[in-house]
Amino acid sequence: MLQALLLTALTAPPIPVILGPSTALSPFVLESARKEVSAIYRQSAFPVVWNEEAEPSFAPRLVVLFREAASFPIKTERQALGLALLSHDDELPNTRVLVVFLDRLENLLPCSCPLARGRALGRVIAHEMGHSLKYAERHSSDGLMRAHIPRLRWSAPNRRDFYFAQEDEAQIHERLRLKAGFSVSSETNGGREGVAVTP
Ligand SMILES: [Zn+2]
Repeated sequence: MLQALLLTALTAPPIPVILGPSTALSPFVLESARKEVSAIYRQSAFPVVWNEEAEPSFAPRLVVLFREAASFPIKTERQALGLALLSHDDELPNTRVLVVFLDRLENLLPCSCPLARGRALGRVIAHEMGHSLKYAERHSSDGLMRAHIPRLRWSAPNRRDFYFAQEDEAQIHERLRLKAGFSVSSETNGGREGVAVTP
């Protein structure tokens, strides 16, 4: 019984993610990206649920928008692949918005193969989700949340660069469990607004 209770407390609630529309991405690429994100998060026992599959959840809902950096109103570093809007605006208190720059994603790809594009897209989404879930712009010294990942690794068939460092994993677990009411401490994020940029 105690074991069962402990397991319940340690299991992260599902993370609902909604992918915005894009005419530039084929259904195959989007599906490959979803698979990649789910696989990366599964390694750390974070379940991801997509679009309408999402049941009401305590985790923040993450909305991913696809844009071109060249025409995006917020200027970012030249190599930024996306950004996570860490707004504390409470108009949509349980929703966080991520942006992926499709023009810059193209620069990562060694070929026009949809599988490579889907993998790289999924990894960029996974990285920005990490910022949203940690509610932090800060990068880590290893894993998915590193500031710099060599260009060709983003689409590489193996996933060895794409895992959560222990510290990131613990931080996300803690935040999700706080949201789910497993702890009495309150979430603190300083109430500040920021933009996390993925170099
Ligand atoms: Zn980043």
